Amino acid sequence: MKGRIHSVDTFSTVDGPGIRTVIFMQGCTLRCQYCHNPDTWNPSAKTAKEYSAEEITALIVRNSNYFAASGGGVTFSGGEPLLQYEFVREVLSRCRQQQIHTALDTSLYVPPETVRAILPYTRLVLADIKHIKAEKSRQITGQSNQLNLANLQLVNRAKVEIWIRYVIVPGLTDAETDLLQMAEFISPLDSVSRIDLLPYHTLGRHKWELLGLKYQLPEVDPPTPSHLEKIQNALQNVSGKPVYILH
Ligand code: SF4
Repeated sequence: MKGRIHSVDTFSTVDGPGIRTVIFMQGCTLRCQYCHNPDTWNPSAKTAKEYSAEEITALIVRNSNYFAASGGGVTFSGGEPLLQYEFVREVLSRCRQQQIHTALDTSLYVPPETVRAILPYTRLVLADIKHIKAEKSRQITGQSNQLNLANLQLVNRAKVEIWIRYVIVPGLTDAETDLLQMAEFISPLDSVSRIDLLPYHTLGRHKWELLGLKYQLPEVDPPTPSHLEKIQNALQNVSGKPVYILH
């Protein structure tokens, strides 16, 4: 079995606990306006490389000294890693046999059967919420959020640990009422152990231009530290979960 992989980062500190090897899978069906990896979208892009489950597991195991010392492991990201869930499941299964901590960074925009199939091999789900309101989610990603939110509840019921990831884009994802609605949605989810805020940045903009795509958010500036802190406090108070700002 082969997986199509965009790239590999062997020393990440922001994609789950500890130091992690992150496997960025090729292909995504969403089209987030703020995406900083549009080069992962096309599942058959010529720039992607094919690896067997054995090859990619061997690469992960080679870095496992870092994992052991830092409490880290492997994270599958993308693109959308669950579009190639059979390959990812095979590698995660091999990693579990080697006692390596396994995480998925996913939008959960996939059929529930896919989520059910991969959860037994997953210790942590980094779950993106794009927006709590369906119509704004459609505006941001091209799709409603109903499937993602239903799958998030499915992961919660399965008692697999969840870290929520939410991108703060001024004027698009930071309205106070929307944030409070999201916090109220998250509050009763017992498997959610933290919320990570990702401040919007423009570092991926040049990739859109290189791919001949029109960048969707030309006038948006990144959020200020004080604005982020205000959001952090509000989310923390209503959700009852620890909220972190990632940079
Ligand atoms: S889900 Fe991720 S990779 Fe896909 S478009 Fe959105 S930000 Fe980009």
